[in-house]
Amino acid sequence: MAVALIVAAGRGERLGTGRPKALVPLCGRPMLEWSVASLRAVPDVGQIIVALPADELDAAPAGTIGVSGGADRSRSVRNALAACADGDPVIVHDAARPLATPALFRQALLELARHQDAAAVIAAAPVVDTIKEVGPDGASVSRTLDRTRLWAVQTPQVFRRAALERALAQASDDELARATDDAWLVERSGGVVRILGSDPGNMKITTPEDLRVAELLLSERLR
Ligand code: C5P
Repeated sequence: MAVALIVAAGRGERLGTGRPKALVPLCGRPMLEWSVASLRAVPDVGQIIVALPADELDAAPAGTIGVSGGADRSRSVRNALAACADGDPVIVHDAARPLATPALFRQALLELARHQDAAAVIAAAPVVDTIKEVGPDGASVSRTLDRTRLWAVQTPQVFRRAALERALAQASDDELARATDDAWLVERSGGVVRILGSDPGNMKITTPEDLRVAELLLSERLR
């Protein structure tokens, strides 16, 4: 049986609502609850653990286990993983991506089961913009990357439990603070990470504009 960890302990300062982002209303429910609803519709998922700000633990949706998040995203994942003694594979999902569908979670689990050599499967969309790297002055372009090989990484990310535990245990404090996703930690410890092509509609909510777009997409889906 799989276990799902939802990281929802960010303060969401860029959204500017004065509330943790995961608890901001989206189509009439706290953002977090849309991810919980999608995960509940996946038969392979047993427990759902939610990492929340320490002073918001009672916001854990019914039937989930709430734990205090950490100082950064990876430490929130580590706290959530420590709260469940079993469950393999481990699904890690950002509450900031409320539009992830049950089908996407199911596909990620299937893809990991199909590829025995893989330590993780991560949802990602092909990059549509041209990406340039700048030099130390922060403004002059030093090189242009080959877009055909670039993917914009999302969650869900599904891990074999042993690989995720090892990667989190081996990471230094500095690496935990710098990791913007967990797959990077697994890559660094030598694990094979596979991409699962996903929809750009599985958007991440960061700004008030993102929230408005997500409201539109979700209300269309609910109609
Ligand atoms: O800040 P950002 O949007 O990149 O955060 C991604 C996800 O990680 C969000 O769902 C956020 O709630 C979560 N997070 C967390 N603990 C932190 C920081 C972020 O659970 N300390």
